[in-house]
Amino acid sequence: VKKRKGIVKTFSRPCSGETTSSSVSKSERKRLVLRVQSELMRSIRRFFEGRGLLEVLPPVFEPFTDSGIGAAGFFEIDYYGKPMKLLSALTIHKPLIATQVGSFFAFTPCARKEPAEFAGDGRHLAQFYQVEVETLGRCEDAIRLLEEAISFVLADVKSKCGKELTALGRELSVPRVPFKRITYKEVVAAAKEFGFEMKYGDSISTQLEKALSAKMGEPFFITGWPKSLLDERGFLYRCDGGDTLLDFDLIMPERFGEVSSGSEREFEYEKIVESLKRIGRLESYAEYLELAKRGIVATSGFGIGVERLTKFVCGLDDIADASAFPKVPGAIN
Ligand code: AMP
Ligand code: MG
Repeated sequence: VKKRKGIVKTFSRPCSGETTSSSVSKSERKRLVLRVQSELMRSIRRFFEGRGLLEVLPPVFEPFTDSGIGAAGFFEIDYYGKPMKLLSALTIHKPLIATQVGSFFAFTPCARKEPAEFAGDGRHLAQFYQVEVETLGRCEDAIRLLEEAISFVLADVKSKCGKELTALGRELSVPRVPFKRITYKEVVAAAKEFGFEMKYGDSISTQLEKALSAKMGEPFFITGWPKSLLDERGFLYRCDGGDTLLDFDLIMPERFGEVSSGSEREFEYEKIVESLKRIGRLESYAEYLELAKRGIVATSGFGIGVERLTKFVCGLDDIADASAFPKVPGAIN
């Protein structure tokens, strides 16, 4: 595990759902959390506008959407007889949009049929928002932009929502850039010492992610997943030319786990076709390919879960507390 300089404080209060407590009522807690969330969104806008990114309104449903959603499925709707999908993420659309307008961000509604067993994990909703960001840069540029965004937003919200955070019993520390980085390969090598069986090519389990998060004590990036995980990571993730993807996850400390994923995107049409063929999804993305064929600019980007980040900032046990109308996976009411 490579150490990088620059972190001033460690995070002392756990907020993964195991230990947070506060004396406010449930309704008062929601009021406080939604106030913090509102400031969080204002702060996110301020940061990305300050970097010259345009804000774009995302679509709600489309003929195609991102496939890199792990074990989740899509929600379909009937659009005058034509089946369409509620957006699971804006990933595939982002390079198409950036081709028209350049670097941009968008608060995007995401619907995912997450497995019902995720209901009690306090981390997953079936309906949530991401702030989706896409720039005309490389993977390294996206990583820097993301760490600067998180550091700025946490400092800004801490200074503006002191009263709310105190009432929620949350002591929020602000991380300094640059964040630490470890590679997927280093995670595989370290898995055993945490008591996990993991070989090259396996996904990183939530439990291992939490163990790493506890050990690191600061936000950090995991970079460079193997190409064999392309379908799980999203088929547009670009490869380094060998066996490794140009991608990253941002993991928050305190056993919190992932708050954002991103990558450099594949823009070469032939390679996109090749990837879709390899993962057996050529036909279901025919309408996307029609658009991609006209040419896409080279981009990199990421998506940050808005309710996830709210959960971290407020030190919540349950992500449902970060949504006005939470939809818990598998639960009808
Ligand atoms: P992904 O495309 O799966 O990497 O998701 C991007 C980000 O969205 C994640 O890092 C989380 O912050 C957030 N996210 C993903 N799935 C969910 C979910 N089911 N509920 C809430 N937030 C989620
Ligand atoms: Mg992810």
